[in-house]
Amino acid sequence: MLIGEMGEPAARAGSALRTSGYRLTRQRQLVWDTLRRTRRHLSAEQIGAALKRQEQAVDMATVYRSLDVLQRLGLIRSSRLGERQYFEVAEPGEHYHLVCDNCGTANHIEGEDLAPVLRHITDGHRFAVRSADLIVHGWCEKCQAKLASTP
Ligand SMILES: [Zn+2]
Ligand SMILES: [Zn+2]
Repeated sequence: MLIGEMGEPAARAGSALRTSGYRLTRQRQLVWDTLRRTRRHLSAEQIGAALKRQEQAVDMATVYRSLDVLQRLGLIRSSRLGERQYFEVAEPGEHYHLVCDNCGTANHIEGEDLAPVLRHITDGHRFAVRSADLIVHGWCEKCQAKLASTP
């Protein structure tokens, strides 16, 4: 699945923030909206740059703090993909990342794809798995085609 099928009721962030005693400040709302709208993995710097393009003055320290709050509330998740930490809207269910080393895009594989491996670890290695993280590096389909056509 390509990342891009993330529909998200905007009200969720507001109510999650309110019930946990955080205020949905304008800055937090802007950071949340940026992640929701782009439907991709964004680094803090990319979020800052996107806000700047919209002529929203949010300094980087505030971007980092907002990301921290949103993550603590379980609204977003972060993954280290390659060199940097990337953020995305948290979706129910586990997923893992396929990172293209050529263009840097990150696609998802569903949690079920890894379920047999985790079952094997539980049964075969008598290890009680609580969580798993997997990043597979390689070349995406587009880059494979590009690389194949370069002489
Ligand atoms: Zn690629
Ligand atoms: Zn992801």
